[in-house]
Amino acid sequence: MTKVSMLVSVIVPCYNEEEVIRETYAQISDTLRNDQSLQYEFILIDDGSRDGTPDILREIARQDPRVKVLVLSRNFGHQPAVSAGIRHACGDLAVIIDADLQDPPQVIPEMIHLLLDSGSNVVYGVRKRRKGENPAYLLTAKLFYIVLNKLSEYPLPVDTGDFRVIDRKIMLAFNNLRENSKYIRGLISWMGFKQTPFYYERNPRHAGIPKYTLSKLVRLATTGIFYFSKKPLRIATAFGFLSVGLGLLLSAWVIYGKLSNPYYSISGWTSVILTIIYFGGVQLLTIGILGHYIGSLFDEVKGRPEYLIAEKINLGSESSLD
Ligand code: UDP
Ligand code: MG
Repeated sequence: MTKVSMLVSVIVPCYNEEEVIRETYAQISDTLRNDQSLQYEFILIDDGSRDGTPDILREIARQDPRVKVLVLSRNFGHQPAVSAGIRHACGDLAVIIDADLQDPPQVIPEMIHLLLDSGSNVVYGVRKRRKGENPAYLLTAKLFYIVLNKLSEYPLPVDTGDFRVIDRKIMLAFNNLRENSKYIRGLISWMGFKQTPFYYERNPRHAGIPKYTLSKLVRLATTGIFYFSKKPLRIATAFGFLSVGLGLLLSAWVIYGKLSNPYYSISGWTSVILTIIYFGGVQLLTIGILGHYIGSLFDEVKGRPEYLIAEKINLGSESSLD
């Protein structure tokens, strides 16, 4: 058990969460209030919601000075919203948790004490079982993590979202990262230090519909793959060598046929068309892979900010870094 009182920053990204955010705030505060060894602050980030979320956040912040609110200028996405939260957190520790109560707030103290008692810098939540999620979604997620781990140059934890507790060292290291597109769970895992898993059961969403659309999920997955691995480029090169090798073999075979039998001719439109389609496909695929890396370079070189803040509530200038 901890003796000194720690300040914990609870970071909650919210996008169109008017149906749950009050309940989430209540459950997290109730849980943390019961632990005498912890003090806490909230960093609630409104990620350009189009419903009543920002008004609810303002109202919560008016009633509770421990609640700090960042309203982003538009919908930037979950990862930028979490980055904004980490940057504005003043705590010795920070908890990153979704707004929809899928990750149970009741386990937060346990995770914090695990971090302190084991001397870890990160305690990351690993989903033991996920209730109420579509089997097709779970299968796709599993496949994604398998592919990502095969491609990645660093081992990345499986079945892990962004639900985690991080200490000040990790927060500072995170704030010093210069890349703009962030795959947060991967980056924190990449940092090293001492990281400990915490197994928990994931609940169904408390209310509302998922805010991660398919295109947002695909963007997250591609950032995960292309920012953590150069292997797709190597695979493209391997494809190139393979087709050149095949081409050489094929020409040797044709030349041999011509020399040994001058009247020999290869009939077959099908084989020619198939070859064109196959190699055309391989070329487009490899150009696509290259394009992805160039696109990422283009985005990073522009150096646009990850997010823009339209409004800050209960955040004095001392904690504001931008
Ligand atoms: N979220 C966000 N911006 C977005 C999409 C989602 O801040 O553009 C937040 C959302 O409010 C929630 C968290 O990210 O707190 C996870 O979203 P969701 O529960 O929809 O994702 P899933 O549980 O399906 O991964
Ligand atoms: Mg969710």
